[in-house]
Amino acid sequence: MKKHAIIPVFIPHRGCPNDCVFCNQKAITARQPDVTPDDVRGIIETYLPTLSGRGLDTIEVAFFGGSFTGLPIEEQSAFLSVAAEYKSKGLIDKIHMSTRPDYIDTEILDNLRFWGADTIELGVQSFDDGVLAAAGRGHTAEDVYRACALIHEYGFELGIQLMIGLPGDSLEKCLYSSRETVRMKPSIARLYPTIVLEDTALFEMYRAGTYHPLTTEEAVTITKEMYRILAGAGINIIRVGLKSTDLISGSGEDSDQTWGHTYHPAFRQLVEGEIAREDIEAQLRAVVQPSADKEKRRLTIFSNGVSFSNMIGNSACNRRYFEENYPQLSLRFAVDDSLPDMTFRVS
Ligand code: SF4
Repeated sequence: MKKHAIIPVFIPHRGCPNDCVFCNQKAITARQPDVTPDDVRGIIETYLPTLSGRGLDTIEVAFFGGSFTGLPIEEQSAFLSVAAEYKSKGLIDKIHMSTRPDYIDTEILDNLRFWGADTIELGVQSFDDGVLAAAGRGHTAEDVYRACALIHEYGFELGIQLMIGLPGDSLEKCLYSSRETVRMKPSIARLYPTIVLEDTALFEMYRAGTYHPLTTEEAVTITKEMYRILAGAGINIIRVGLKSTDLISGSGEDSDQTWGHTYHPAFRQLVEGEIAREDIEAQLRAVVQPSADKEKRRLTIFSNGVSFSNMIGNSACNRRYFEENYPQLSLRFAVDDSLPDMTFRVS
């Protein structure tokens, strides 16, 4: 398996003119000092020694935070020139950034090409114009189609981020967004359930009772179907759910940071564990016959080492599920590294 490392550079988008209802960037940037190109150099220099000798295939410098290409072009160039210097010395392999679909045009892409950028991730969130409007995104699906076409035309690698459970969203709209994502042919994708954070319009809507966040279970159910669509099209899903380190401190009810009982620190494992359970169960149903035998039938369920924890499930929930629902079986779980990720075999 290819080993890949990202050096994340968080560039808050001070002065972002948009008002996405879920975003607490304005509150964050008000509390944080500006990031300078020297800081970028410092971050890369701090990371590089920790990455050597680990047999990595690629190292990427990735500009996250606000919307990188919404910064004035001179500022973009100042940041990119530092990353480009490390790329030209062969110390990193790729330059990556996240941005908005409406911050993509030929001038911006010419500049990114000049500095040797490789990957552009678009915060698409939804392909439904009603959801985009209710989320205060300030762009439409048409902007997404235009940006994706331009990014492909320039030959950059495309990434797409989608959110689940925004105001006005539904399972059908999420599935539509996933199918449209497949049509846009990104190589990577991220899936983020909407989390209610303090200092956001969504938090006010939540408190006023006009926004009802998904429960973790609902979010898993929808995300699982989106995951199947994207993974089935060969798209590399590089993130599912926020990590605790993505959250900035607050006084939420779920954890220290979030409100509304959607957030789960192991959200990806919940989604992949559910997919594993469904896939394994389909195979068990095909082989298990009602039997008069007194002896329990022995079966082994295999996955590769990477997917083993998904096979067992979060807090061993899949193991318990199978033990309770298939008492006629004696089940063993084992590793078979010849299997691809998220592929399970019953024998
Ligand atoms: S999500 Fe991005 S575009 Fe929207 S308000 Fe936050 S920083 Fe601005």
